[in-house]
Amino acid sequence: MSEWQDQLRNRVDSLEKLEKFIHLTSAEREAIAALGNTRWGTTPYFAALMDKEDPDCPIRKQVIPSMLEQQNNFGMEGYLVWKENRDTKEKRPDCIARQYTDRVAFAVTQVCGTYCRHCFRREMTISKDLKLRLDVDDGLKWILEHPEVRDVLITGGDPFILSDDEIEYLVRKLREIPHVEMIRFGSRLPIVLPQRIDASLKKRLGGYHKVPIWVNTQCNHPKEITEHTARAVYDLMTCGVNVGNQAVLLKGINDSAEVFTRLHQLLLNIRIRPYYLFYCELAPGIDHFRTPLEKGAELIRDALRGRTTGMAQPLYVVATKIGKIPILSESHVVSRDDKKYILKNHDGRTVEMPVV
Ligand SMILES: *Cc1c(COP(=O)(O)O)cnc(C)c1O
Repeated sequence: MSEWQDQLRNRVDSLEKLEKFIHLTSAEREAIAALGNTRWGTTPYFAALMDKEDPDCPIRKQVIPSMLEQQNNFGMEGYLVWKENRDTKEKRPDCIARQYTDRVAFAVTQVCGTYCRHCFRREMTISKDLKLRLDVDDGLKWILEHPEVRDVLITGGDPFILSDDEIEYLVRKLREIPHVEMIRFGSRLPIVLPQRIDASLKKRLGGYHKVPIWVNTQCNHPKEITEHTARAVYDLMTCGVNVGNQAVLLKGINDSAEVFTRLHQLLLNIRIRPYYLFYCELAPGIDHFRTPLEKGAELIRDALRGRTTGMAQPLYVVATKIGKIPILSESHVVSRDDKKYILKNHDGRTVEMPVV
């Protein structure tokens, strides 16, 4: 058995196992007792990154259930059906979510390495209220029949949970479809189980191909980045797979300027290119993670733009049923007349540009 499979077999998903890593508060104990019937838990590797004493540890908050999940002032019931356009006329298998013409999200499993408490698919992954039939062959057939789809985003759950054989099958079948030009995996395993990126997976994903593979992972806090993460990302890149990050803006976890800047600098240090910053979605039970909408744009303005490497800047978006909508904090075009624009930089100084 490989190391990553061993990690999953020893998943930290009970009070007894969690107590080996941290000193639990009574609030954490209460929530595990009350919500323990939902899926929760993480890998021993990720659990070992938790702070033993501090209940505000950003990793603890993402992994351990909270009684706050039972409050719901803003979350929508039936969120995922709304968000993924599952109630529209177009007939699609459960595994295909569609918001755009040329690309789709293809969910291949409901299993994860870590069950993020802030998950927007929590109705499927955590509470299991939404029952979906995720059949890979149904999805492949639907994609084959839709020549306008040129980009397939494989998601879940976490698709890297699949076996090497299943991943190879998926990639091979997608590459046999003439109109598929690129394949993306959305996986948190480079962060929560970097051991998954082993020699055997590299062999299945690697090599020069006309249809490239991209991976977008999710890293939300500097504490989640280790030597193992750096190695996993390097290993993906050396077999031809590019790695990006899709962070989620989480109250009390990464919404301070200091943490936010450091997170994005460290991502670049380990060769991950920040791609998106997501507003915390309207899934039910995650109000306690949600900031005001403007917060993400303000953080990019105040903590990244002009202050650090340009490549560290993600695009801040709200994911909705009609696609991802960028939220920007301000315009850098101050004014325009017949002859010139006045442009403003990050610290308020201005410069002129001619109207051509
Ligand atoms: C996010 C998403 C995509 C991909 O969007 P990009 O902006 O191209 O990264 C595609 N389909 C669905 C349903 C999505 O949610």
